[in-house]
Amino acid sequence: MTILKTDALTLRAIDYSETSQIVWFFTRDHGRVHLMAKGARRARSPFEGALEPLVRGEILFYRKRRTAKDEDSLEILKEFDPRDAFPGIRRDLARLYRGTYVIELLRELSIPDEPMPELFDAACLALDRLARGEKRVLDAVLVAFELRALRASGFEPSLGRCVECDAPGPEGRGPGALAWFGPIAGGLLCSEHKGADSRAFQVPCEALRALAVLGSDERPRARLAFGSELVREVRRVLDAFIAHGLGKELKLPRYVAQDDA
Ligand SMILES: [Zn+2]
Repeated sequence: MTILKTDALTLRAIDYSETSQIVWFFTRDHGRVHLMAKGARRARSPFEGALEPLVRGEILFYRKRRTAKDEDSLEILKEFDPRDAFPGIRRDLARLYRGTYVIELLRELSIPDEPMPELFDAACLALDRLARGEKRVLDAVLVAFELRALRASGFEPSLGRCVECDAPGPEGRGPGALAWFGPIAGGLLCSEHKGADSRAFQVPCEALRALAVLGSDERPRARLAFGSELVREVRRVLDAFIAHGLGKELKLPRYVAQDDA
C-alpha cells in the first residue's frame, strides 16, 4: 500500500454507513478516484463538512496494490485539505448552476484511475472564472470549458467542415446565414448531407463561429461576452451534441433556461 498526495476536486459524496461516506474526487494525477471517508458523517468529522461537491483541495489517500480480485474494493481517504470552496460561485444562482454543471460534466467525462491533467486544469480555470469573473462572461467561460473538456475526452464537434464530405462550413457567409448541425453525425453538415443525421437542425452560422472561437482561444478575454440570442443557439448545439455523446440529458440546460444571467 502506498500513500498518494494530489490536487483534487470533489465531485460527489454518497452516504455509505452511519458514519462514513464514499467520495468521488477528480484528481489531477490519478483521474477519478472513489474513496471511503471514514467518520465523515460524524458530528465531529475529521473532514469538517468539506467533502460536499465543488471544493478544490489536496487529498492524501492510500492506494492499494490492485489485483483482479479486489478491483472494486475501496481505497481510503486519509486527509483532505480544502483550498477553495469557490464562495463566489455559491453566492449567486447563475454562477452556481454553471459551476454545478462543470462538476456534472466532470463526473461524466472523467475515467477512474486515468489521469487527464488538461481536463483538470481547464476545470479549475473555469471554476475560478465562474467565481470571480464578470457576470456577462459566464456563458462564454462555460462554453470554452465544455469545448476543452470534450477535446480532452476525444469527442469534440466538427465545426468548420461538413463531417460527411469535408465541404467548407459557415466561414464567409453573411449575417443571418444558417447551417445544419447534426448531433449524431458529430458536427456541421452541408445542405447536401443534412439528411445523414435524422436529428440535424439549422443554426445560425454565427453560433458555429462563436463555438469555433471559444474552442480555439487558450484564454479568451475580449471576445468572451456574447448576447443572449447567440447564447441560446450555442447552447442548443452543445446541449444536443453532449446529450447524444453521453447518452443522457444533463441538468444544466433546464436551469439555464430559467435564469436571467
Ligand atoms: Zn457534405
